[in-house]
Amino acid sequence: MKQCNNVSSFTEPPSALYTVLTNQNDIMLHLYNTRTKQKEPFSPLHDHNVGLYTCGPTVYNYAHIGNLRTYVFEDILRRTLKYHGYDVTHVMNITDVGHLTDDGDQGEDKMEKGAAREGKTAWEISDYYTKMFKEDMKALNILEPTIWCKATDHIPEQIAQVQTLIDKGHTYETSDGIYFDTTTIDDYGKLANLKNQDLEAGTRVDMGEKKNPHDFALWKFNKPGEKRQMEWEAFGKKGFPGWHIECSAMATKYLGNQFDIHCGGIDHIPVHHTNEIAQAESANGVKPWVKFWMHGEFLLTGSEKMAKSEGNFLRMQSLLDKHIDPLAYRYFLLQTHYRKQLTFSWEALDGAIAGLERLKRLVANIPDHAPGDPHVREEFLKAIKDDLNTPEALAVFWTELKNNRIDRDMAIEFDKILGLKLHEVKKETIEIPEEVQALLDERKVARTKKNWSESDRLRDEIATLGFTVKDTDEGQEIQK
Ligand code: AMP
Ligand code: ZN
Repeated sequence: MKQCNNVSSFTEPPSALYTVLTNQNDIMLHLYNTRTKQKEPFSPLHDHNVGLYTCGPTVYNYAHIGNLRTYVFEDILRRTLKYHGYDVTHVMNITDVGHLTDDGDQGEDKMEKGAAREGKTAWEISDYYTKMFKEDMKALNILEPTIWCKATDHIPEQIAQVQTLIDKGHTYETSDGIYFDTTTIDDYGKLANLKNQDLEAGTRVDMGEKKNPHDFALWKFNKPGEKRQMEWEAFGKKGFPGWHIECSAMATKYLGNQFDIHCGGIDHIPVHHTNEIAQAESANGVKPWVKFWMHGEFLLTGSEKMAKSEGNFLRMQSLLDKHIDPLAYRYFLLQTHYRKQLTFSWEALDGAIAGLERLKRLVANIPDHAPGDPHVREEFLKAIKDDLNTPEALAVFWTELKNNRIDRDMAIEFDKILGLKLHEVKKETIEIPEEVQALLDERKVARTKKNWSESDRLRDEIATLGFTVKDTDEGQEIQK
């Protein structure tokens, strides 16, 4: 059986470049934990090893840039852990079976639906969209997980976990599947703070043969006479796994009965992650299954969540079609804290494109003599360690670049966390002819004297010689 591939073909910076700071006498990394509803100091369960599981894509269609926001947040987390010297085992699943169109226990399998839409097999659909997803990740400079795992490569593990739940008395069978009985545990819904009233059999939930509204399918049986492309013989019938069991089975397999961090978008809190917890804690008998649960907020278009089902989504190709650097989108995301909603607009993205260009230019032109001030590193890390506050870290970066308190090495070191490929930025070597330099000097004097008409005249004269001058906070900037 093919289980996973441990490949690292993405641009992962050499580990020697990461500074191990765990012994530094400074504040610890604090992360917001959805489980405890507060920011907490992070320390791994096992020495310097961190187990990280991030719910991956359902590969029936392209990822949209909202999905990609979640993966960028997880990448900042991964890079931050790595920067602090932790050895991270990062597991990401590929959902290629069992995720139904209503995100619950009814509806069609998204993969089979995708296959019908495109006249391909479900396996071909899965291969194609997995490949596309990996390309999006690469474009956004997201580090590749240590372990990729596909749901269909782990059917025996999922069947085994369902069997354990059956053996421990947590299940019942209906005509369409094996269900988890949420009344067999006293803390169901703790992650999402689901209240009792939410748990009552209500009108909103299509109960079918379910005993309780939050009961969910562990394993689904084929409908009578149905022939699915993805089906397995188990529990005496043909069928397929429920959506949540893959994550609890594979995370347990690769990271153990207890591990450090599990992430996803906030929509996963009330159902998918709540059900993963119910399954894993009931099957493994260890609580809490995961120490830190972390969730990224939505990317919105207008006031709506960006979603494939809403038809209001853009994907990476939509940006590439406009010749937009994917890293400008990454920079756009980093300007907002991952736990805040972010509204996408082309105007805001334009601002980020210009911002990243300017940042790169500042880094490229860091004067050779600029000293790196260790206090700046402290300030930058203080922001990152405060629950990955990238907007604040970027603000420190900007201010101190302008103050010449950051040298090139420090800029590249910060970028180990930001992932904007600043190490690729080359020093600009514009040959400025003496004649142009003389005009620039004259213009500088004119501007000091607030002689704007003379300043404009000189700019026009410089333009006739093939150079453009821009006035920035740091003075005149010249481009050919
Ligand atoms: P899916 O492929 O639908 O399972 O979603 C992949 C990831 O994207 C999950 O972690 C979702 O929580 C997340 N997600 C879905 N929609 C959005 C959105 N509009 N903004 C941010 N993350 C999202
Ligand atoms: Zn999951």
